[in-house]
Amino acid sequence: MAAIKFDKVTKQYGKVQAIKEVTLGVKDREFMVLVGPSGCGKSTLLRMIAGLEEISMGELYIGDQVVNELPPKDRDIAIVFQNYALYPHMTAYENMAFGLKIRGMSKAVIHEKVMSAAAILGIEDLLGRKPKAMSGGQRQRIAIGRAIVREPRVFLFDEPLSNLDAKLRGQMRLEIARLHKKLQTTIVYVTHDQVEAMTLGDRIAVINQGVIQQVDTPDNLYRFPRNRFVAGFIGTPPMNFLDGKITQEEGDIIFRDEATGQIRVSVKNQAEIAAFLHQKVTMGIRPEHIYASAAKAGPKAIPFSAHIPMVERLGHECFAFLTIGNQQISARLLSEEVSNNLPATMDLYIEREKIHFFSAETGESLTTAPHEVVH
Ligand code: ADP
Repeated sequence: MAAIKFDKVTKQYGKVQAIKEVTLGVKDREFMVLVGPSGCGKSTLLRMIAGLEEISMGELYIGDQVVNELPPKDRDIAIVFQNYALYPHMTAYENMAFGLKIRGMSKAVIHEKVMSAAAILGIEDLLGRKPKAMSGGQRQRIAIGRAIVREPRVFLFDEPLSNLDAKLRGQMRLEIARLHKKLQTTIVYVTHDQVEAMTLGDRIAVINQGVIQQVDTPDNLYRFPRNRFVAGFIGTPPMNFLDGKITQEEGDIIFRDEATGQIRVSVKNQAEIAAFLHQKVTMGIRPEHIYASAAKAGPKAIPFSAHIPMVERLGHECFAFLTIGNQQISARLLSEEVSNNLPATMDLYIEREKIHFFSAETGESLTTAPHEVVH
């Protein structure tokens, strides 16, 4: 078991700076998820921990040791890949045993370790099969089993569920969460899927263009995103953004949307937002915080009326696409609340407590939050 620390780590591929002075601490036994869009640098960070990628600048620690120059085989780390990377000519048992065999362990010890990992994963009946005779989910369990038998200090997962269908992905997600509880080992898990990140991570590092945007618990990322990127990346469907302006009306600091002026919000943290008087800001509101009734939207509900050209019905709930002037947003409503006769105009209400404001210039959140100090 071990903690991991990136200290101002940079990765340069020729002229491309894939990782920019990343400082990130993963605590001992923590489940840390690295999430971000394709190309943001998350696999590069993972491969650096495994020793498969050189570090251009900065230092990487595993435990108390700087490991920049330590070869992969000496790092005591196991990695589970997206494509399973099993040997096709070996049975599941042999695949799991192979790494131990080349380390010179006795047959009896290997047998005990393989059988114990197989029991943890419930794959005893697959041990005699070769990879081609197994489903994707079963192969992935063998690949995880192969990592478990090594009893590494750290487990690395590189998009392990991307090749599985949605149902199996959900199932494997639960298994990996259960496995972490059982093994109590440090895990660093890379995914581009924010739902996977939110359900698995003790903490999540959101990465964009080689820069860490925020490291926080799933709940804090959802409730207190530090900037517009995190706000838009975490949550499905994504947060709505409305451009507007901060003005002062009768001593009150007010946001009004730019398109129609009809969304009028008396801002909560007046003192901070007063600094943005007459400037452009972006208001953020999640689709699930827009309601069809004022009562549901809480004591200071913000009413507005929207044109609804289209709705996506998902049974009990629906996603209504709204136009406010020239801006598009979406709301998660109950199906029964939205007319079948579209397009229509509907009165809706925003829950004031759930509104975010961002600087239009930098994207930084203007709404104070009880952030944990990260790194
Ligand atoms: P992610 O895993 O988030 O999709 P990667 O870590 O694979 O992203 O890549 C980060 C960036 O580094 C991307 O812009 C990618 O094109 C670039 N990159 C990755 N590997 C190499 C390489 N071997 N040579 C040059 N550029 C690379």
